[in-house]
Amino acid sequence: MEPLKRVYVSRGALAHNFQLCRAQAGDAGIIALVKADAYGHGMPACARLFAGLGASGLAVAEAVEGIALREAGFALPVYVFAGLAPQSAAAIVEYRLCPLVSDAHMLQLLAREAKVRDQVLSVHLKVDLGMGRQGTLPEDFLALVRLAQTLPSIRVDGLMAHLPKGDERDGSHSGRALTAFTRLCSEACRLIPHACSCHLANSGGLFYVAGAQLDQVRPGIALYGYYPDGALGRAAATEPRLRPAMEWKATILQVRHLPPGHTVGYGCTYTTTRPTTIAVLPVGYADGYLRKLSGRAQVVVGGQRAQVLGRISMNLSVVDVTAIPRVAAGDEAVLLGRQGEACIDADELATWMESINYEVLCLIGRLNERVYID
Ligand SMILES: *Cc1c(COP(=O)(O)O)cnc(C)c1O
Repeated sequence: MEPLKRVYVSRGALAHNFQLCRAQAGDAGIIALVKADAYGHGMPACARLFAGLGASGLAVAEAVEGIALREAGFALPVYVFAGLAPQSAAAIVEYRLCPLVSDAHMLQLLAREAKVRDQVLSVHLKVDLGMGRQGTLPEDFLALVRLAQTLPSIRVDGLMAHLPKGDERDGSHSGRALTAFTRLCSEACRLIPHACSCHLANSGGLFYVAGAQLDQVRPGIALYGYYPDGALGRAAATEPRLRPAMEWKATILQVRHLPPGHTVGYGCTYTTTRPTTIAVLPVGYADGYLRKLSGRAQVVVGGQRAQVLGRISMNLSVVDVTAIPRVAAGDEAVLLGRQGEACIDADELATWMESINYEVLCLIGRLNERVYID
């Protein structure tokens, strides 16, 4: 039996988005971001799809995810973008993962691990252009490149940075970062005796910053069908039409008629003001339908929007279907996605959650059973 709430992931939408990114990337290779369980869409399935469509690499957050990809048989480059601790070094070498390295100590540690295994480890070096998170300061970057050249078990195959304002449509900040990065890359590449891939663009860099494609691009959110600034619904007709890949549906448990003056949910925060028909849904905060959505969110039933009434519980929510004819137990309610003319996207859910589409997708996709379609 299917669970009473399901996340549907459209392979067709993922492929469509990959092709849009490819068209935007020109000759640049595409490193497909599959961290956080592919933004909640399921890492193994998404990795297989993007690899099959010609991604130049896959990127995960930490080594354990990369190991899972290797164990699933993926042979293409797997980049470890975030979690690199001294404890990760041995696994990185053993599974031929490519880490982003930004300090001398880690570089030497990785070199030692590679040397004892008689291997040469491919790494990408990271410069910090204002993220203030990982990376090395621009003024220290060339010293790191030079150090790498003294380590025979290390091969620098890439240079990268991450845009702190990549999600802004006004690309002026990112444009300046791009200028600084390309200047630094051209100096660094002179120190490296072989070809080296320079990459800067996440989805925002790819779509909003002219000339940021460089050798490779690193789209994440765009692959899953959203713009980083949450403006999918407001995107101009001339912009590439990304297609959201995730939908979330639930089976209506029960339809009831409440008299005026009846309260709904914990705390009795909502009281009916007229005869009200409610539909009870099998979703709550345990499924990622956050309590913050209480009294705020809407779902789609019978092709029309229905308002959430009162507080969201752990496993149940209540919506008002008074104005929607012929709703019955067993019908489908759409929490995220389209039904008829009505559509609720992750940007709208994010507004109600006071969050961003990224967080909505990661949360919902990982807490609910996924079904792949198309
Ligand atoms: C997550 C990530 C990306 C992708 O960012 P999106 O905004 O989802 O496109 C790109 N580069 C790095 C280093 C990342 O960690």
